[in-house]
Amino acid sequence: MSKLRQVYLLDPQRLSPETIAVTFAKTSRSPESFRDIAEELTDEKSAQFHEKWVVGYGHSSVAEHATLHIAVENVSRLAVEVLEGNRLASFTEKSTRYQKWEEDAFIVPEELEGHPLKQRYLDTCHMLFDTYQRSLPVLEQYAQTRIPRKAGESDSAYERRLRTDYVDVARFLLPAASMANVGMTINARALEHALCKMLSHPLAEVRRMGEDIKEIAEKNVPTLVKYAHALPYLQQISETFTAVGRQVSAIAFDGRQWCTLVDYDRSAEDKVLAAVLYRYANLDFEQAAAYIASRTIREKLDLAQALLGDCETHTTPLRELEHAFFTFDLILDQGAYYELKRHRMMTQTPQALTTLLGHATPRWMTEAGFGETYHQAMRTADETYRALAALSPEVASYVVPNGFNRRVLLTLNLRTASHLLELRSAPNAHFSIRRVAQRMSEEIARVYPLLGPMLRCTPGERWQEIEQTYFTSLY
Ligand SMILES: Cc1cc2nc3c(=O)[nH]c(=O)nc-3n(C[C@H](O)[C@H](O)[C@H](O)COP(=O)(O)OP(=O)(O)OC[C@H]3O[C@@H](n4cnc5c(N)ncnc54)[C@H](O)[C@@H]3O)c2cc1C
Repeated sequence: MSKLRQVYLLDPQRLSPETIAVTFAKTSRSPESFRDIAEELTDEKSAQFHEKWVVGYGHSSVAEHATLHIAVENVSRLAVEVLEGNRLASFTEKSTRYQKWEEDAFIVPEELEGHPLKQRYLDTCHMLFDTYQRSLPVLEQYAQTRIPRKAGESDSAYERRLRTDYVDVARFLLPAASMANVGMTINARALEHALCKMLSHPLAEVRRMGEDIKEIAEKNVPTLVKYAHALPYLQQISETFTAVGRQVSAIAFDGRQWCTLVDYDRSAEDKVLAAVLYRYANLDFEQAAAYIASRTIREKLDLAQALLGDCETHTTPLRELEHAFFTFDLILDQGAYYELKRHRMMTQTPQALTTLLGHATPRWMTEAGFGETYHQAMRTADETYRALAALSPEVASYVVPNGFNRRVLLTLNLRTASHLLELRSAPNAHFSIRRVAQRMSEEIARVYPLLGPMLRCTPGERWQEIEQTYFTSLY
């Protein structure tokens, strides 16, 4: 057998995803080259292998080598949230920032079929979409008064430049029922888990989407998703904790506690520096920690500077930053949450989308003379939400527009915080999420004075200024 290094592609045009997965799996026991292993395999033999090893003996990681690209179209943004809740996958979806929504581009939940509230749901969605459509030219005109045309700029170039700014404001009106397209790349192991959650979901739309995806998966990776099924466990937990939650009266949100650092490791900075030292020195962790603890602030600052100070944009800082964990309790508008949820390298626990935490009002909406229309739309959405919530809180979430606030518990580490803050505080990020990023950065720097200020949050903008500049009210 050749001893020369060989690197080649297992061609997905020629081999099925299951065969590719078995080809890799077999290298564990076979001295043959991958090419030879693949040559001997058929789809049937691959299925038998998976049946025995992946399904029978639980060697599930093999299924990660079978990848699918699944296109999902015309599902609600609530359904997209469920899909994107699966961290071990990749997604690209229709943007509320770069595209406009057509009228009637919303889903009607099948739970409302034949129900007296269906008409009210339809009326509210039509009203929200109509208000959204009417807001666009008003906001565009207002944008022209705020952002002057450059010398020699063509109509289309000027419109493109204005568009992100005014569409960013109009999007506060779009409800969660709005239809979106999303492309998902996922391996069969993650997909099986994702399907179990979809098939157990309280919303019929999500269960149907799960069934459709399962059908596709069964054609392409039949053995690997065979046992995807609804999990009664999820239903039971939901019932138990919802009942417990009803016994506790919630404190009314007054707009102040919207970004609370509820937990953090007080010795995290020393721990991170000690972990970096541990990587490069022949010391056990206790010794490394004792050495760092004995340094002066100045010496620690120098080490922090060496760790983060020269780390350029696009360079991922060392993994040792992951030893510092902290937890935020956040309240942010649904539009901003929708962006936050795309960050996979952290643990997010969102509450259901409701109208109970009030809504934000973008300043342009008010200054363009559209404020009263906006508030009326939000009031109507709130009333419809409350009427529908008596039937089903999950179904009621469909009518909630992006402007309403949402609570999410976020546990992350310094490394992923650095990435989140850099991306979401950048000048091209939406002002809602920039506000969150700047405030989180301030909170982190307060408790981690050495490393916090070196995270890559964009300087020169404060969250209070963002509130002042971009919002008339926040809840
Ligand atoms: C200006 C802007 C415009 C955007 N427009 C759109 C849009 O139109 N449509 C849209 O769908 N999204 C859009 N996004 C969202 C974007 O695509 C990301 O999903 C989001 O910013 C999360 O970033 P991330 O994937 O880098 O971070 P995280 O998910 O937090 O991951 C952190 C890091 O881990 C690594 N990582 C995590 N998972 C993987 C993986 N599976 N494979 C390889 N590396 C991984 C990467 O290095 C990544 O940077 C936009 C974002 C920005 C900033």
